[in-house]
Amino acid sequence: MTVYNFAAGPSMMAPEVKQALAQSLVDWQGTGFSIAEVPHRSQPFVDYLSQTQAMVRHHLGIGQEYEVLFLSGGARTQFALIASQFLKTRATYVVTGHWSAMAAHDAQRYGHVDQVVSNGKIPESFAVAEDSDYVFLCSNETIDGVEFATYPVSPVPLIVDASSDIFARRVDMSNVALLMAGAQKNMGIAGLIVVVVRKDFLAKARQIDPSLSYVEHAKKGNLLVTPCAAAIAATHETLNWLERCGGVEAIEAINREKARTLYREIDASEGFYRNTIAIKDRSITNVVFSLPDESLQEAFLSGAEQRGLVNLRGHRSAGGIRASIYNAMPLQAVQALAAWMQEFKQSNLEWIKQ
Ligand code: PMP
Repeated sequence: MTVYNFAAGPSMMAPEVKQALAQSLVDWQGTGFSIAEVPHRSQPFVDYLSQTQAMVRHHLGIGQEYEVLFLSGGARTQFALIASQFLKTRATYVVTGHWSAMAAHDAQRYGHVDQVVSNGKIPESFAVAEDSDYVFLCSNETIDGVEFATYPVSPVPLIVDASSDIFARRVDMSNVALLMAGAQKNMGIAGLIVVVVRKDFLAKARQIDPSLSYVEHAKKGNLLVTPCAAAIAATHETLNWLERCGGVEAIEAINREKARTLYREIDASEGFYRNTIAIKDRSITNVVFSLPDESLQEAFLSGAEQRGLVNLRGHRSAGGIRASIYNAMPLQAVQALAAWMQEFKQSNLEWIKQ
């Protein structure tokens, strides 16, 4: 039985990507040694690094006006690093869920934070103080299942945490000063963080410890510290695979169909499956829903598991069910989940009448 991993991250990788990565770990590009063994200042590695950066630019639809940095750590590490480098007077944080709330919390140590609190929904508009250094938002709240359908036009530089929806859909980068994402969902494996920063915004960065400074990393061609080569290889192979799939637009069409399949099932369930998020704000990546009663949860999850549909339990802080349907999740797996949802509802119809 094929097992489909609906985890929120680390999450499913395409089989071809895993195979290519395994090959790179054993024998990288016919060198006879692993990507993890390549001296990071050697020309082949430097070329590989810049090819991977070019692939990030290509799939994001941006050019040389942005630096692309491959850093190590957690996505959360960047919450503090962003604030320590760019928060000078005050900054605006749009809090739509768990991760943006954490980013606002972590920034407070470095300066004044104005919070636009709109948990579980995307605000129509919001005020930004004229002297705000930037606006920070999380484009897709992985736990809460809400996303910005489009990025707002901001009067001050816009910073986006796109950890869970980078490369899932085409976004307008023209207004974005900095975009960051952990690799472990849509572009590789944990340990690598991609920071894409516009050069004119980077020029405003405060000087911090050199080993942490985006300016210093950029100046040293991403070789200031030894890059996490194996994780970069995972991203390289993922972005190659994305290209073979037809790029972001092609994968977005499939992603939208996957999300439609699940929301259709939820909305047609006569209240059996519940998702309270406004339709326009629903995430196409993390579909969250609850069952009529908590007592049904284990039966739902174990029936799913028997069908090879695993890791559907919601985040411990949110409860319920969460189906994370990143780029690597095929449509037929989502259809299998929808079929299971239908079957499970049919065998528990008494709950609808209550
Ligand atoms: N931002 C978002 C949107 C996330 O989904 C996550 C992790 N799931 C993080 C930040 C934090 O990532 P990390 O565990 O790598 O710090």
